[in-house]
Amino acid sequence: MANSFIDKARITVRSGDGGGGAVAFHREKYVAAGGPDGGDGGRGGDVILQVDEHMSTLMDFRYKRKYVAGNGQPGQTKRCSGRDGESLTIRVPRGTVVRDTATGEIICDMAGQDTFVLCRGGKGGWGNQHFATPTRQVPHFAKAGLPGQERDVTLELKLLADVGLVGFPNVGKSTLLSVVTRAQPKIANYHFTTLSPNLGVVPMEDGLSFVLADIPGIIEGAAEGAGLGHDFLRHIDRCRLLIHIVDVSGSEGRDPVADFEAINAELREYSPELAQRPMIVAGNKVDIAPDRAGLEALKAHVEELGLPFFELSAAAHQGTRELMLFAANRLRELPPITVYEPTYVERPPEIDTSEDLDIQVEDGEWFVDGPWLRQLMANVNFGDFESKNWFERQLRESGLYKRLEEMGIQDGDTLCLYNLEFEYQS
Ligand code: GDP
Ligand code: MG
Repeated sequence: MANSFIDKARITVRSGDGGGGAVAFHREKYVAAGGPDGGDGGRGGDVILQVDEHMSTLMDFRYKRKYVAGNGQPGQTKRCSGRDGESLTIRVPRGTVVRDTATGEIICDMAGQDTFVLCRGGKGGWGNQHFATPTRQVPHFAKAGLPGQERDVTLELKLLADVGLVGFPNVGKSTLLSVVTRAQPKIANYHFTTLSPNLGVVPMEDGLSFVLADIPGIIEGAAEGAGLGHDFLRHIDRCRLLIHIVDVSGSEGRDPVADFEAINAELREYSPELAQRPMIVAGNKVDIAPDRAGLEALKAHVEELGLPFFELSAAAHQGTRELMLFAANRLRELPPITVYEPTYVERPPEIDTSEDLDIQVEDGEWFVDGPWLRQLMANVNFGDFESKNWFERQLRESGLYKRLEEMGIQDGDTLCLYNLEFEYQS
């Protein structure tokens, strides 16, 4: 079955590397040796998520899986900085939840915010213009830019609706949506007609209007992944209220009470928390029910559970207004639509520190360089105590300090690691 509705996608994103600083010297006629004038490298571009209100699926991510921002350009002569790398903006539908693929932790929920910086570009390296000191007139070095970050993330679309319609296929969910809103979902008399969720606004007086969502029918076994329904259940995760539609006409030889319980079992299986969501039950297709037996049985069952019950003929527009009014009033007492808090915990990456670093010394200043050091520095947050400790530990365990001491570093000498300079203390 062709299903063009995509609501889950896995992508990798990468921000740009910072450009390297330049080593250059000022040259002018009649000036024997000019000063260092190598400019700084440009910053790498960020990867930014941006809500696009016109998007309603994650289909665009089906074929394009890799998103890479631009690298910063190297610094130039004459103190000119390299150009910053171009940032990359990825458009997503509102309600997209972004998770770290490896851990499943939530990085951000694009429900309550319009933009989010998913990966920051690497800082540009300093050109040699910064490294001239009274004693060091001719700095022959500059700093490399720091690398960008790479992330593997999973996007999941969770619609923003106040009320979700649940029920077996063919019970009249789409019909109800089409009757009470201006949405035009597909309606047909066979199962699985709805392949994508539909949203509509139910207009009400006094600011009580709300958003109603019709999701594809839940079928038995859906919570174990059989059939269509399972994937779509995530769209009602955020709903504040559920309307459970049951066909009470007996037109398909079904038992309304058994149907009602089967759907509830699916909800529980998928998420015990969702099963606890406030629910209104509506017995539909009363217009073609030969008698009231099915309706009365369901009503008694539902009322015993303490849930409100309505009888309905969505197709004949009977009882629809009362149901919507009741839902609107119920919503007044319910908490707002769920926005997920981030659960993602930044973990330092595994960095192989076995390779020897390049060490240069000039007048008591020690310059250390190397690929893994660059990677390490790109991942440390110097404003954070834990992160700084991690950085310290990596340096110590790499044997760098031991080597420096063997090479004769003294207390009070300056240690330069990219954009970080500090006094060495053994
Ligand atoms: P969904 O699968 O739950 O979305 O069901 P649909 O809204 O697509 O409806 C399935 C079939 O039931 C369609 O042929 C509708 O016209 C029909 N239907 C929906 N509501 C009613 C109703 O209240 N009375 C009658 N007689 N038919 C209905
Ligand atoms: Mg439908």
